[in-house]
Amino acid sequence: MLKVTNIGKAYGKFTALENINLEVADGEFLAIMGPSGSGKSTLINILGLLDQSYTGEYLLKNKNYKTVSDNFLSRIRGDQLGFVFQNFKLLTTYNVYENIEIPLIYSKKEQNNKRELIEDVIEKVGLKGKEKNRPSELSGGQQQRVAIARAIVNHPNLVIADEPTGALDSKTSKEIMDIFTKLNQDGTTIIMVTHDSEVAEYAMRTVYIRDGRLYNDEKSVKKS
Ligand code: ADP
Ligand code: ADP
Repeated sequence: MLKVTNIGKAYGKFTALENINLEVADGEFLAIMGPSGSGKSTLINILGLLDQSYTGEYLLKNKNYKTVSDNFLSRIRGDQLGFVFQNFKLLTTYNVYENIEIPLIYSKKEQNNKRELIEDVIEKVGLKGKEKNRPSELSGGQQQRVAIARAIVNHPNLVIADEPTGALDSKTSKEIMDIFTKLNQDGTTIIMVTHDSEVAEYAMRTVYIRDGRLYNDEKSVKKS
């Protein structure tokens, strides 16, 4: 799915990422853990093609997007990536159906079966009957289900989730992780940032970031 080779990122004189190497296979479910300020968001912004000012090489599906135009980049993001955030980022004046429809409106992919695609993901995340509700009428867990449906409606190659359970209680977190697990079993590649080691347990593999460096296991973090 993707390959990161020797990526570095600086904010002025501050080194936020250093010598990052990472490969994620098609169909993987990867968790990225690390303390606040360790560089997790900086890394997933690069993986999500939201930040192009880094050193080193990032290949998504064997392609390098380092020098393409912003326009082209936002199209690639829309067609190939799905994003889930801690705070859901739903449009408050749109209902559930309309929120999920958004990526399809902007997509350049051929879509004759829009309604079918939307109904299919609504079913998948367990929101049948809520189509007409506004986000404010839903619980946090239900809002995150809407965000997940929106992230996958376009059948992206990769879903990037930044602390998807960070605003949820532990029972609701488990329900949301069950949805991610099912998605992954259906073949979706997932990269998830989390603080919560119980949440990370749902992933197939966990890597750790500390002070802008990536480690494959917790022991090597502690030794350094
Ligand atoms: P931005 O504000 O867009 O994030 P930065 O301040 O992070 O930009 O980066 C400033 C410049 O430093 C950019 O042109 C970027 O290409 C370069 N740069 C970013 N990361 C590194 C790095 N690890 N080593 C050297 N130069 C870098
Ligand atoms: P995390 O997601 O693990 O909390 P971040 O990737 O947000 O960490 O931040 C890594 C480090 O880079 C932190 O020390 C943070 O203060 C710094 N940083 C993040 N964004 C910027 C920015 N735009 N300008 C300067 N420093 C930044």
